Amino acid sequence: MMARKIANAAGRKADRGFAPRPGYPDSVNRLLAGLAKLPGIGRRSAERLAFHILKQDADEALALAKAIHDVKTTVQHCPACFNFADGDLCAVCADPKRDHSVVMVIEQPRDLIAIESTGMFRGLYHVLMGRLSPLEGVGPSDITVAQLLKRIELSAGQPGDNAITEVILALNPTLEGDGTSLYLNETLVARGITVTRLARGLPAGGQLEFATKAVLADAIQGRRTV
Ligand SMILES: [Zn+2]
Repeated sequence: MMARKIANAAGRKADRGFAPRPGYPDSVNRLLAGLAKLPGIGRRSAERLAFHILKQDADEALALAKAIHDVKTTVQHCPACFNFADGDLCAVCADPKRDHSVVMVIEQPRDLIAIESTGMFRGLYHVLMGRLSPLEGVGPSDITVAQLLKRIELSAGQPGDNAITEVILALNPTLEGDGTSLYLNETLVARGITVTRLARGLPAGGQLEFATKAVLADAIQGRRTV
């Protein structure tokens, strides 16, 4: 079974230290340290959240702790596309009505939610779990490139229309997203796959997950070969 838990590129960055405050009990210091590791949460915000949790009803605070426990113990990555999944295959991969011959490559599961909200795409996805970033030391083996190639290879032997014939590159229009697209294009074209990418209605340097539905829908319809 292939490794389902893929370390997020961000997770490899050094932990930001949170020096324990001598006046606080150990449990409060641990809560502060945990909160301060969340994105966008600095020391002050961590203290604000921690004191809110301390004042909160026990039921509410424990429901939050249980929700965190549950997502970390029950939600996995789909073994086919790496989208989040409660069971085995994710809901998209398990849907026989979707077009299994077209696969859209995206950076993260949140991009899938953005594309799905347009209702314009009926194929499958492949979540890279990051993008190539030579400066941060993220190479092809740190994202799910090998799994994508394997998936395409395995699909070729399947009956019906399930062989993957088109891959749509839908990475963020950033320097790293473009570099990743170029790499994937070369790799996939060499294997005889038709590769298209989203039209450039998306603002350069933007993030897929923040694009409006209309812009995303245009980008899907106007996709072209790389
Ligand atoms: Zn899936």
